[in-house]
Amino acid sequence: MKRMLNEAAAFREEMVDGFVAAYGRHVRRVPGASGIVAVGAPRPGKVSVVVGGGSGHYPAFYGLVGRGLADAGVIGDVFTSPSGEQAYRVARAADGGAGILFTFGNYSGDVLNFGMAETRLRAEGIDARTVLVTDDVLSAPKDEADRRRGIAGGFYVFKTAGASATRGDDLATVEALTRRANARVRTAGVAFAGCTIPGQEEPLFTVPAGQMEVGLGIHGEPGVRTVPQVPSREIARLLVDTLLADAPADAGSRAAVLVNGLGGTKYEEMFVLYQAVAPLLAAAGIEAYEPQIGEFVTSLDMAGCSLTLFWLDDDLRALHDATAVTPAYTRLGPDAGDTGAIAGAVGAETAAPVADTDGGAAGTVEVVDRVGIDGARDAIAAAGAVGAAGSFGVTARAALGEVLRAIEATEAELGRLDAAAGDGDHGLGMARGFRAAVDAVDGFGGPAGATFVRAGTAFMDAAGGASGALVGAWLTTIGSSLPASDDAVDAAAFAAALAAALAAVPLLGQAAVGDKTLVDTLAPFGEALDAAVGGGATLPEAWAAALPAAEAGMRSTEGMVSRRGRASRLGERSRGHVDAGATSMFYVLRAMGDALREA
Ligand code: ADP
Ligand code: MG
Repeated sequence: MKRMLNEAAAFREEMVDGFVAAYGRHVRRVPGASGIVAVGAPRPGKVSVVVGGGSGHYPAFYGLVGRGLADAGVIGDVFTSPSGEQAYRVARAADGGAGILFTFGNYSGDVLNFGMAETRLRAEGIDARTVLVTDDVLSAPKDEADRRRGIAGGFYVFKTAGASATRGDDLATVEALTRRANARVRTAGVAFAGCTIPGQEEPLFTVPAGQMEVGLGIHGEPGVRTVPQVPSREIARLLVDTLLADAPADAGSRAAVLVNGLGGTKYEEMFVLYQAVAPLLAAAGIEAYEPQIGEFVTSLDMAGCSLTLFWLDDDLRALHDATAVTPAYTRLGPDAGDTGAIAGAVGAETAAPVADTDGGAAGTVEVVDRVGIDGARDAIAAAGAVGAAGSFGVTARAALGEVLRAIEATEAELGRLDAAAGDGDHGLGMARGFRAAVDAVDGFGGPAGATFVRAGTAFMDAAGGASGALVGAWLTTIGSSLPASDDAVDAAAFAAALAAALAAVPLLGQAAVGDKTLVDTLAPFGEALDAAVGGGATLPEAWAAALPAAEAGMRSTEGMVSRRGRASRLGERSRGHVDAGATSMFYVLRAMGDALREA
């Protein structure tokens, strides 16, 4: 796969720089954060709508920042949720004093990371709320609609939020209307070929000749099922039938219609699809309101498309029709003539200064908010204040270095495991995270506790994604749970810190043993470690004795169906391979054991 890029690691930064250089009339970069705000935002007294997610989906999400739509966009690495830290900084820069509405697709990584930003904003007295987009009808049954993932229908949800906030609605109203939009939007899609992450050689999945995938994901996840390829008119019938069968009870008879291309499907093919969709909708008595055909949410170069129906009532139609002018989407509404909206949107107005959130409260308290663990404040404060450094701090840094080597050596394998039912970024994210963790403690002379807190904080911010939040919280909580002085660190203290950290991980991700996640490796390891320590073993001995339990836990995930994270949308299809996070966690523990033995 040939791509136009420099170094893969610089892809996101260079992409954002180029975007802002081109569209400075619409958006500005938030200093010190991976995100943008609309020119003119924040507007005092106006609710700010903040969208975001991984990149690779353009024009979602940051192409929709501008007048009448989103006030700010948080931009993660390709297919990877931005970190909680980045979401927080961008939201702070967009805050106009009337509250923040976050709206984004329902993916574990985004939910965890934006959730941490929301918690932190609230703790600072800023009213922040979240509306998840859950339009993909094929990703979960109707009675579990809140588990569905967000795909192309997010466009209408964002448009509703932006229009409501722009006309001056208060936060409760913006939130309620945005929820209503999400409750009335449905999408179904098909895919014909996977996509390739910049810098990688292989596509995330391939579709056998003559076959197609029904139920596409927008991260190169395989479909929900593979079926023989059929002509366009039959795809039209499949998608229309699927959406009509799932229509809300009070749908009415008018729906905005969107045919969305995933990046590798031509507009001409989508027109061919639409010529078959239009009469099917008419025959069902539905007025197709302002159909749009194009790319609204892509998945890199994936081939495929989706059909969205947005069931309009009068309120939602008014918001749909309102003026919006952004880099990727422009619509002039009834309000365009008398509000000066267009002049403002093209940068004629003076931009409000963007708050530089770079120097936010540093250190200990910040960690608590991001980890989101009640009662950990004191423990973290203790760990943050550098206590007596003994040899354990040195061992901790050696262990992190050993882990980085192990993860870099297995990065491609972890990517492949994640691609089986997820989005293939797990190896990239773990390597990025541990590189940042090792950098953060390079030259640091403090004890083990403070070392792990630093490493975990850096990991969380750099890795992004579900595992960024989860593994970052795990590392940070190990650090905050260890005694402040290395003199007091022994096998029992370390086992206790691991137990505290394990409690933090399900707290963030709500995963239990058997859900096919990293918890399946960590939980049996913790039990075995406790038992060995209780029997009088030293830490290196206990660690070695517990590793087989971690390995068995990891292997047990092969036969499981995923119940957490993005793989959970694939049901039975997630069975048959070990979980990516469970595997990387085993490698982490094994590398730490190697470092302990050598120490
Ligand atoms: P993302 O899903 O955001 O792409 P990664 O690919 O880095 O994140 O990590 C995926 C791994 O994270 C999964 O294999 C699983 O072990 C773990 N995971 C995902 N969601 C959860 C969750 N809600 N709770 C616990 N673990 C999770
Ligand atoms: Mg992933």
